[in-house]
Amino acid sequence: MRRLKGIIRKEKPLVIGISANTGSYLNGLKIVKKIKDIDKDIITVMGGTHPTIMTKEVLEEDGIDFLVLGEGEKTTLDLMDSIKNNKSIDEVNGIAYREKEKNENKIKINESSEYIKDLDKLPFPDRTLFPLSFYEYPASILMSRGGCSYGCDFCAVNNIWEGERRFRSPNDVAEEVKHLIRTLKTREIGFVDDIFTLNKEYTRNLLKSLDRIKTPFKWTCATRVDLVDKPLLQKMHKSGCSGIEFGVETGSQRVLDSINKDITVNRVKEVVKIANEIGFNTLCSFMFPLPEDDRESIRETVGFMKELKGMGANLIMSFTTPYPGTFLYENADDIGINILGSSWDEFDAKHLLIDTKYLSEKELKEMFKKITREVGLKK
Ligand code: SF4
Repeated sequence: MRRLKGIIRKEKPLVIGISANTGSYLNGLKIVKKIKDIDKDIITVMGGTHPTIMTKEVLEEDGIDFLVLGEGEKTTLDLMDSIKNNKSIDEVNGIAYREKEKNENKIKINESSEYIKDLDKLPFPDRTLFPLSFYEYPASILMSRGGCSYGCDFCAVNNIWEGERRFRSPNDVAEEVKHLIRTLKTREIGFVDDIFTLNKEYTRNLLKSLDRIKTPFKWTCATRVDLVDKPLLQKMHKSGCSGIEFGVETGSQRVLDSINKDITVNRVKEVVKIANEIGFNTLCSFMFPLPEDDRESIRETVGFMKELKGMGANLIMSFTTPYPGTFLYENADDIGINILGSSWDEFDAKHLLIDTKYLSEKELKEMFKKITREVGLKK
């Protein structure tokens, strides 16, 4: 917060924008309040997943002047143009605000903005504006955005994005890789899309573009076990992919089926075996707990984790987080779970936030400690 004061004094901004997901939202709110304490005339704009889904609740808070909903680039530009040139705010699609002059309490949500069709038109993010030394992986790239053809109960992607997934051209992605190699001198890129191989044809074309880059570099990605096969994994490895994360979630087929994940534990084993043989650093991510978990399914999961570990996979286990917009959040009562958190700060996958139909909060806390010890997970 002290840095914030210094920055505001130096830059004298007209507008400050803050991006907030559910876990960082309250911190964002603190920053907004601090900004207004320093200078109440600075216009504050908040965007990100949390304001997009919890629009009305967020606008109830003092200090936030505008919300940018959904895809932010064009909307933010339109909003800035409108503020700077005193144009009517009514014309800016994709924003929400309180109509202060007309009626203090009336929340106005403008028409949605259209999604950007050609993502290649967007400039690369200017990472030099960030304190890069604070970031563990500064060289991360997003190559697509939009909805997902799957509908896992714990995932909010289809509430945040409507419509199909839009991809940048493989060439544009490769240009960004080259830009990062040149400007950050990085040799490690992290593709942060939730499913790197969502479209296999696209993936193959992207690999061809990456192969044309002369400077050697390594990269990592995440995907689903049903969207890779041996030839594709071999190609990815040859193109420099050193690490791959698979969303496994649980070792119980019954529980997997109950969350609409649409994969099988057998497929997980097959793919992890292939990936390890090829030479990937394989990471399997699990969630704890899931609504249908009972003692038996947790036992199965522990057994499965040990088996995957024995095959050479690395493991990670996060607490299931019922983010606003997810099936879990919207239907908690119907599926028989309680949401345990008392603050949005806890929605960070590091807090136990749900109990299950069969296991209480106390039982789950004890079990989590036991699993961590038994499987050898790092905290
Ligand atoms: S978890 Fe992955 S596969 Fe499931 S809906 Fe979300 S993005 Fe799609």
